[in-house]
Amino acid sequence: MDPFAYRNGELLAEDVPLARIAREVGTPAYVYSLAALRANYRAFADAMRGLDADLHYAVKANSNLAVIRAFAALGAGADIVSIGEMRRALAAGVAPADIVFSGVGKKTSELREALQAGVRQINVESRAELDMLDAAAGDLDRTAEIAIRVNPDVDAKTHAKITTGRKENKFGIDIDLARAAYAHAGAKPNLRVVGVAMHIGSQIMSLDPYRESLRKLRSLIGDLRADGHRIERLDLGGGYGIVYRRESNEQPFAVAAYVDMVRQETAGLGCRLSFEPGRSLVGNAGVLLGEVILVKPGSARTFVVVDAAMNDLLRPTLYEAWHDIVPVRQTAAGASTTITDIVGPICESGDYLAQNRAMPPLASGDVIAVKTAGAYGAVMASTYNSRPLAPEVLVDGARYDVIRRRQTVDDLLAMDRVPSWL
Ligand SMILES: *Cc1c(COP(=O)(O)O)cnc(C)c1O
Repeated sequence: MDPFAYRNGELLAEDVPLARIAREVGTPAYVYSLAALRANYRAFADAMRGLDADLHYAVKANSNLAVIRAFAALGAGADIVSIGEMRRALAAGVAPADIVFSGVGKKTSELREALQAGVRQINVESRAELDMLDAAAGDLDRTAEIAIRVNPDVDAKTHAKITTGRKENKFGIDIDLARAAYAHAGAKPNLRVVGVAMHIGSQIMSLDPYRESLRKLRSLIGDLRADGHRIERLDLGGGYGIVYRRESNEQPFAVAAYVDMVRQETAGLGCRLSFEPGRSLVGNAGVLLGEVILVKPGSARTFVVVDAAMNDLLRPTLYEAWHDIVPVRQTAAGASTTITDIVGPICESGDYLAQNRAMPPLASGDVIAVKTAGAYGAVMASTYNSRPLAPEVLVDGARYDVIRRRQTVDDLLAMDRVPSWL
């Protein structure tokens, strides 16, 4: 579903005009649709029906407490990659037993805190981490339930910065070295091996790399069992691609097709499965609102300078990502378009939301919506150029609430200290 549609010439979030939110909350601001979050979750949950499987929402895609709570209320657990995210998941009402801790560089202090909280499972990504975790668990007189994240060496055919399942990526343990790593883990007194984990990348548009990885892991699980390990769980990671460019031939697979493929490839395996979607649950449920500050016609192209910038939404700069951008007041059909760069005020040439984009006429004061900004948007924001973090708003039907207040410059200044000797 697209909860952001025009009605009577106004772009709405569900039943709330985005122009109204821009007026009342200010810009830049992130706006999310609760109905879209729920619809995305339900599509996944429906597809999973009948499988022995859990859904652990990958909190890093959008870690606002209200967003996590919305999913937790529907039955989701959490996949976390830091203790900060664990604290968020717990604060949002996720039970520790529904939390899986992933990540390539967990510190001993983080491992300890996760063990003390009683998270379900820790996904270990290196031999060094096996040693650290065994020691931490021993100190606390606990046993850590672990899976090892295996790097299956497949090409997910996605952007280089978000592919994670190749040998040259830092993630997981090479599949060729996995048996030895499991033997190492199996000999640790404070670790209990329970499963195998994978996550091969993000914004993946084809089922093929998943199928290829699953076949490799299935054969590995056979070997591990022959070696005497009890492999009861299989973490499938996330990475499901979504449409960012409406008028394109981007064709992500349907979640039902993905889950059916998993059903086939894991039939008879006897593992409890874990799905870890992030982007696909939140991406299309959010927009970033910005207001046009000024329009600057140049000899090569026209620049539209808006008050939302790369510090608010880094994806265009970091991944060369496309986001559809539309005015919140609908343009008359047949209006002319101009080739435009939509840029922020930051002192970086990389500060743009779109380049060479055909846009309808825009003028100072117009509000634009950057679409599909619900995932890896607000969570990647920074305060570069001393720009306070944008607020986040959740819409539910005809009502909305601010779910993260706008940071103020005073908030920023309050963190700094000038030494007395300066
Ligand atoms: C980031 C991540 C996910 C979620 O990826 P999406 O592309 O947002 O679905 C799942 N599992 C792990 C281990 C991750 O690091």
